[in-house]
Amino acid sequence: MKRTFLTLLLALAIGGMAAQQTSITAPADYFGFEPGTDRKLFTYEKLISYLRQLDEESSRIKLEKIGETPMGKPMYIAFISSEENIGNLDALRKINRELALNPELDDAELQKLVEQGRVFLLATLSMHASEVGPAQAAALVAHEFASTTDRKKLSWLDHVVYMMVPSHNPDGMEMIVEYYNEHLGTPYEGASLPRVYHKYVGHNNNRDFLSLTQEDNRAISRITSHTWFPQVMVEKHQMGSTGTRYFVPPNHDPIAENVPAGIFQWIGVFGQHMATDMTLDGLSGVSQHYLFDNYWPGSTETCIWKNVIGFLTEAASVQTATPIYVEPTELRVGGKGLSEYKKSTNMLMPWEGGWWRLGDIVKYELASTRSIIKTASIYREEILGFRNRMCREQVKLGRSEPPYYYILPLKQHDPGELVNLVNLMQDHGVDLFTLDKEVELEGRLYREGDIVIPLAQPFRPFIKEVMETQEFPERHYTPGGELIRPYDITSWSLPLHRHVVSHEVRTRSESLEGSLEPVAGSFSLFEEPGNGSLLLLPVNINESFRVAFHALHLGFEVERLRQSLTDGESVYGKGSFLVRSDNRKQDRWEELLEGIHFSPGWIGEGAEPDSEPLQVPRIALVETHFHDMDAGWTRYIFDSYHIPFTVLHPEQFKETDLSGTFDVILFPDTDKPVLMTGKQQSGGEYYLGSYHSDFVKGMDKEGFEKLMEFSDRGGIILAWGRSGRLFEGILKIKRGEEEEEFQLPFRDLSPDLAKSGLYIPGSLVKLDLVRDHPLTLGMPEQIGVFSRGRPIFRTSVPLFDTDRRVIGTYPEKDLLLSGYASEEEKMGNTAAIIWMRKGRGQFVLYGFNPQFRASTQAAFKLLFNGLLLHRME
Ligand SMILES: [Zn+2]
Repeated sequence: MKRTFLTLLLALAIGGMAAQQTSITAPADYFGFEPGTDRKLFTYEKLISYLRQLDEESSRIKLEKIGETPMGKPMYIAFISSEENIGNLDALRKINRELALNPELDDAELQKLVEQGRVFLLATLSMHASEVGPAQAAALVAHEFASTTDRKKLSWLDHVVYMMVPSHNPDGMEMIVEYYNEHLGTPYEGASLPRVYHKYVGHNNNRDFLSLTQEDNRAISRITSHTWFPQVMVEKHQMGSTGTRYFVPPNHDPIAENVPAGIFQWIGVFGQHMATDMTLDGLSGVSQHYLFDNYWPGSTETCIWKNVIGFLTEAASVQTATPIYVEPTELRVGGKGLSEYKKSTNMLMPWEGGWWRLGDIVKYELASTRSIIKTASIYREEILGFRNRMCREQVKLGRSEPPYYYILPLKQHDPGELVNLVNLMQDHGVDLFTLDKEVELEGRLYREGDIVIPLAQPFRPFIKEVMETQEFPERHYTPGGELIRPYDITSWSLPLHRHVVSHEVRTRSESLEGSLEPVAGSFSLFEEPGNGSLLLLPVNINESFRVAFHALHLGFEVERLRQSLTDGESVYGKGSFLVRSDNRKQDRWEELLEGIHFSPGWIGEGAEPDSEPLQVPRIALVETHFHDMDAGWTRYIFDSYHIPFTVLHPEQFKETDLSGTFDVILFPDTDKPVLMTGKQQSGGEYYLGSYHSDFVKGMDKEGFEKLMEFSDRGGIILAWGRSGRLFEGILKIKRGEEEEEFQLPFRDLSPDLAKSGLYIPGSLVKLDLVRDHPLTLGMPEQIGVFSRGRPIFRTSVPLFDTDRRVIGTYPEKDLLLSGYASEEEKMGNTAAIIWMRKGRGQFVLYGFNPQFRASTQAAFKLLFNGLLLHRME
């Protein structure tokens, strides 16, 4: 072949560049295998140390710590871009911030920022740790862009800063990889982890982006709300094995009403480029408008309410890293958007079945990532301009269209939850203010100190979404046809879920806007201790329970009021807590006070309130091995409220001295067959999950006998959701040779009501509470509870030594507070929470999850009071 002078020069130039990049360690050399190889996985630590090495070897990569996980592991972003951009990150970050938050830029300023700015593209990988592909592909993506000499890719890096969070869930990644490697080569290779792949919440880590309860999620949320303000975000997941191979946006209906059209259009642009590029690469089975909707906030994509072009991708799974063979007859579709596994507008090139490997997932991930970076590069100017346009439009809307403000009075049933809500909104990047004088608006008087959230802010869609009441957008597949059902829950209103009063103001007021003081830093209503030395914690405040348990934990004496106490203008309800300070424990006393953000009461030492010592009950929390997220959330609540507990697995019942060890046994929401046998049940048939046989165990008959014996000896049983079924029908107590059969005086109506049309996918409904029962201490007369339409109780007149009390009732009509429900009046005037007794044993059954995803603070006290019920002697 004849070489021209030009090609020779080019070859020399490329040779020179290649030589410069040969010092970049390839993943295969570092890990000892090519990422994506069958049955080979590296750990989180290995991945980070590889990225650290690339950070040293390449001027295109910078690793930065962004926070810590719930189990204390450091979390990182790897910034991947051109050498120039990496050297200029601070200046670029300032541009991002201006574009995101400054509505006053003039055209020339905006033009300049758009010229100088880069698209920041955040990718969060494998938050669901069992979905290993994206995090394993991360090493290849980083290496490819650190070492590429391809002119096109280099030009993408000139325009784009790729911000890769190599694992959104490092704790889970460590657990999954370790467990997989332990079982490699055994019959249980690829078995599911027999616990949640996170300290607490497992898969529900993608349901936490409103409440921000988990440390790893807070680290990710800070990136979009406080520190980097990326314009584009993608979360990378895997889905089932036998459906389409890959999902890219757009999502299916319903879509969020508050998110502007432009965001969805841009999401579609990225999706369409991915579908096109991946199909050109010969990757079949890419689907769009399928399964996933864009309606509910709470996933990592919650940033689309904050003007970020955010979306997810999903690859078909293998068995962790073990390949699978899918018979063509096994291919199927579910959910919405595809009714047949056939070539169609939502899946143009179906995958035909056969072997599917980790290497395939990695290949699809690389193609998808390249396409997203390329698209961000192609539209750099438009995307940067769009971000600032969103900011300006939202601020303008907030000034021209109601609602204009949400106002939260300081005077609340539970002021502690007001404080928590204010701090949560600040974490979300929302500006809050206090009134510096009285203002009258729409016939209501607002007082100095009340909290104001104006809607004229860049994150207006978010504020409106979380502060208003949810109305589900009813859409149908065909006119008058079947309703498109929601993918997840339908209610998340932060004030309603917390029983915090919030007024939506639809009139603009100059007087109000001239009376606002910014809330700066952490918000607190705590005042320095007065003269008294007895700390009084009002029972109406959730945080009082936290402080009381904390005080016990720190070694202080805590008492509970047996009668309400009036001190000046303050009334402390029955059940309020009293903590006695102790000079010998000054440090711990200060630690205790530091954790109080509401205004407690103080009374003098001489006062002798009618109180009794608070005993810490010995609590067993029942958690199954099967990714038991509801139990995980309960552990989270207990840990964060300093409530001591022991996890009890169902199969441990038979060998545990339950009545000698515990006072309270708590069953979160789990299927009865799973609790009893460890097996799942569907349509009357039992089936085995993907777990190692060591864990497929339940209470069995012997364990349940132990549980009944526990109750017979005065134990307290709390259960909610499906677990309540354990106690329906004929039960039996064994006392030596003697056996007694009995029945608790209740029935679950929900299966019949569901058949007759009641449907509640996860909504907030009204609950009326009785006033004179220990379970309702500190509760208002009515709250909203989070219901999924089951169970729903009817009690009956008790026989013999059983008893019952209906603690909470769904009202006769107008039940729905927020979200979707059909034929909800069918549950009107039924029991939602019942207390029952058999001999000395007490049972509390909840028809709702009182701690649902740590987001239903209105009902928390119904749980705490249950834990603190007195044993019957
Ligand atoms: Zn996932």
